[in-house]
Amino acid sequence: MATTDRQATTLALAHALSAAERGLAVIPLSRTKLPALRSPHRDDPEPEGPPCHGACGRFGHGVYDASTDPVRIRELFAAAPWATGYGIACGLPPHHLIGVDLDTKCGTDSSAALRELALRHLFTIPETVVVLTPSGGRHLWLTGPPDVVVPNSAGRLAPGIDIRGAGGYLVGPGSRTEHGVYAAAPGTAHLAPAACPPALLRLLLPPPRPARPGPPPTGDHGRGLVQFVLTAHEGQRNTRLFWAACRAYENGLGPALLTPLIEAALDTGLTEHEARATIASAARMTGHRP
Ligand SMILES: [Zn+2]
Repeated sequence: MATTDRQATTLALAHALSAAERGLAVIPLSRTKLPALRSPHRDDPEPEGPPCHGACGRFGHGVYDASTDPVRIRELFAAAPWATGYGIACGLPPHHLIGVDLDTKCGTDSSAALRELALRHLFTIPETVVVLTPSGGRHLWLTGPPDVVVPNSAGRLAPGIDIRGAGGYLVGPGSRTEHGVYAAAPGTAHLAPAACPPALLRLLLPPPRPARPGPPPTGDHGRGLVQFVLTAHEGQRNTRLFWAACRAYENGLGPALLTPLIEAALDTGLTEHEARATIASAARMTGHRP
């Protein structure tokens, strides 16, 4: 077991170093796909100002630790000898990587959803690096223009399609997680990540904020989101709740829809604890306070 883990770490480091050679900044990941190094500030009181992103000089700032410097990468892995994978930071120069994460969980056909989006918005998915995930999903690697910040989003384009942008990371090919190994799809490992088609890029940018402050009435849109949760059957309940809560927060309806969404979730059989946790992660994912 110990030997296997050490081999997994050595292998992850080797893959991470070769990604770095291609200009991709990396961090060590644990088997859970989370950054392997815990925050040195985890026991600190809540900071008054913005959180530390590495100014303290220690490791453990998640994606902010990411580097293309082989010396620093070796130091990061030396500090995390339990790492079995590596994450590639998105949104950083020179590639300004954008990850399109096509999930297959909960019965969503996210590849079909992406094809449908492509038809509707008249773009084609270019030939690019594709990483196969152990759960049968796929990550498409695209590059963005340097002057555009693509935010992370989950299920905003369609259920099952997550976007990894600025502040996000992709599990790199060659990583081992508790669910299995991530691997480049045959024939794509040595491609350069292709430029994101402009029509797709437009869909990835955040919607304009409502001009009028104050809680807007939830209206038809709010009712539609609640209905979307109510009609979920088992296996989709969390995904649907998450998706609806993300849309609610993006449209400034998060606080107003909190109670209706929880009630709808309880109606489908989720527990209040599960519902609150899912809505809180939707809030965080869309940059709001839960
Ligand atoms: Zn710090």
